Amino acid sequence: MEHRVDLKTAALSQTSPGVTELAVTANRDERTAAVVEAVLHGKAIAIPFAKFNDGRGFSIAHLLRSDHGFRGEVRATGHVIPDQALHLLRAGFDTANVVNAEALFHWQSSLAHYKGAYQKAVRNPLMQRRLATQRIKGEQRAAALSEKIAKTRDLTQRVREIADSVEGRITFSTSLGKEDQAVLHAIVSAGIDVDVFTLDTLRHFPETLETLERTEKHYGIKIRVVTPDPMDLEELIAHDGEFGFRTSVNSRKACCMIRKVLPLNRSLKGAAAWITGLRREQSAERADVDHAVWDADLELIKTSPLADWTDGELDAYIKANDIPVNPLHDQGYPSIGCEPCTRAVSPGEDPRAGRWWWENEDGKECGLHGRERRLEVA
Ligand code: SF4
Repeated sequence: MEHRVDLKTAALSQTSPGVTELAVTANRDERTAAVVEAVLHGKAIAIPFAKFNDGRGFSIAHLLRSDHGFRGEVRATGHVIPDQALHLLRAGFDTANVVNAEALFHWQSSLAHYKGAYQKAVRNPLMQRRLATQRIKGEQRAAALSEKIAKTRDLTQRVREIADSVEGRITFSTSLGKEDQAVLHAIVSAGIDVDVFTLDTLRHFPETLETLERTEKHYGIKIRVVTPDPMDLEELIAHDGEFGFRTSVNSRKACCMIRKVLPLNRSLKGAAAWITGLRREQSAERADVDHAVWDADLELIKTSPLADWTDGELDAYIKANDIPVNPLHDQGYPSIGCEPCTRAVSPGEDPRAGRWWWENEDGKECGLHGRERRLEVA
């Protein structure tokens, strides 16, 4: 029987997903294929070590996390020793195979004994303090900004508060839905410097793409269009076909991850703040959306200046300011995503009922919002 230690809890690992094995010599294509395979089939990725002193497995684990954004289980197999427990954990491994249940004791001792790492950058207390300070400061700045935003209902003033409070690049990801069109209008009216981009999943309705063109003309701006990594897409289609997202929740989440989540993470890299058009009224999932929160995962302040706006306020704002909107909203589409995954809803139906309608009602998100969601996707 196989025994595995969970490096975070130092306990025997209880879960037992299948594995996709990845050689320590894997190139980018092979890593991509392994990630797609693991995501599609809910598997762990196992990296085998021929010798404990072969460092290549550590690099591969690190690349799976940093380059591919893989958040599923990464397992060390083969010749790894208890003294490496902390290093495995820091490189991105979740679990390690242990010879037998008795050997678990040595792994637990190692995890308990070595409280730090020998590398200068990690053991340096200054560095550790800096990281903790960054998180605390981020949370404090987000709380202060949230308070400022809540003091006014004027949307232009709200986005101005964001620009005044944040140092560094501010991004705005627009889906071209009516919430985001209202936020864009406020950004342009406020004359603030914001990196505006949209994720083109290559599956959009023609009406959405026409809305993009009309919006650019209307405001005299260029919206950065971000597309999925062609290699990731190729792998996805090779594994699952063009419409595989209808065959299982895992396949649907893999599709959303490759077409939306990974391109989003790429676009947000290095940003200080991210403006979204989330509103509490949109769904039960979004009922607790705050005006500004520190996103520790993305290391930025995530803002939602429309969080407490009602449907009525939003529609009135759009009408009063003659804001261009996607014509599909008037045809029963309150929430507009990819064409094959979005249908019109009937009056009184949940606004997000038209998204992935063949799935359970719970958790109808694509992984763009919420750390838990991104983890779930992976
Ligand atoms: S919404 Fe549908 S087509 Fe679009 S990325 Fe998600 S699964 Fe794929």
